Amino acid sequence: MRTPKQSSIIKYSREKAHKLMKTLNPEITQKDIIHHKDENPLNNSVDNLEVMTNSKHLKFHNNVCKRWGVSKDPLKRLEKLLTDFNNH
Ligand SMILES: [Zn+2]
Repeated sequence: MRTPKQSSIIKYSREKAHKLMKTLNPEITQKDIIHHKDENPLNNSVDNLEVMTNSKHLKFHNNVCKRWGVSKDPLKRLEKLLTDFNNH
């Protein structure tokens, strides 16, 4: 179930990731997307973050989603991640 709380935690985490990458690279603008390599928007370790343009990011996710048959919705992906994690 998607809760408003979950959405705001993810939003906050994404803002934090953006700020972190901007301190490392001041060229980053609001238009740049910080992509989480492991698809977990809460994992803001520098190794997990990659700066992409919006169009590159969309293309990347379209390809990944097609290949893996996963959802394009980041919240749904997170839910799946959490479910897998809880089942371990
Ligand atoms: Zn991404």
